Amino acid sequence: MPELPEVEVTRLSFADRIAGARIESARLGKPLRWPLGCEPEQLRGRTVRAVRRRGKYLLLDLDQGLLLLHLGMSGSLVFADRLPAPGPHDHFDLVTSRGTLRLNDPRRFGAAVFAGGEDDPTALKLLGRLGVEPLSGDFDAGAFHQGLQRLKAPVKQVLLAGELVVGVGNIYASEALFHAGIRPTLAASRISRPRAAKLHRAVQEVLAQAVRQGGSTLRDFSNAHGEAGLFQLDAMVYGRAGQPCRVCATVVRTIRQGQRATYFCPQCQKS
Ligand SMILES: [Zn+2]
Repeated sequence: MPELPEVEVTRLSFADRIAGARIESARLGKPLRWPLGCEPEQLRGRTVRAVRRRGKYLLLDLDQGLLLLHLGMSGSLVFADRLPAPGPHDHFDLVTSRGTLRLNDPRRFGAAVFAGGEDDPTALKLLGRLGVEPLSGDFDAGAFHQGLQRLKAPVKQVLLAGELVVGVGNIYASEALFHAGIRPTLAASRISRPRAAKLHRAVQEVLAQAVRQGGSTLRDFSNAHGEAGLFQLDAMVYGRAGQPCRVCATVVRTIRQGQRATYFCPQCQKS
């Protein structure tokens, strides 16, 4: 599943090239998670001003309104001058004067949604309840600790829920907790201020590092299909059950938390 770093790297892969492009047409394939919310013809003639990211949404700012894109479980975006005819999993094409942006999404949990503006009910429904951006200055260690104090759920699930901080998905939650030395099952409310500060820093570092790693492959990103595996090369615990911890050689363990696999080192993350 594309996580925040993959979405950010996808954004970096085409944001500069599409800025200023005029939309010539839009094409829909099979239904996605949510409807487009306008007739495709209504997008014609509008200009793409910029591409921003909010959580795992990409926001294409148009001269009128905005287009929200989400990659869902299996989506990827490609932006290129010339693309082959749409295949069975290509469900949204935005043809512009600078190239075509195409959403390929076999499982169709992704979406392309038009909204009149960020205050429009359609946009508010999708973006309104998102937590703080982890890679922005708004993500504050003190406020993060206070937020943790209020919640009795296991810290891993608190991170995934996205209310305190947005976009920390399954891979990076496990990784950040490892770097902070915190057991994923620990109740969020039991995390001390210094440990919360450590976790705050770890969340930022693992995400920033993943964006850098993905960004370093941008050279080969002309057909921007994000390969999730690319970002897991340096995983300390994620996906490493049964293998020795890279720090202490204790066997990495996996458990299920809310249907999701969690990985941790029982020695480095004692409590
Ligand atoms: Zn260890």
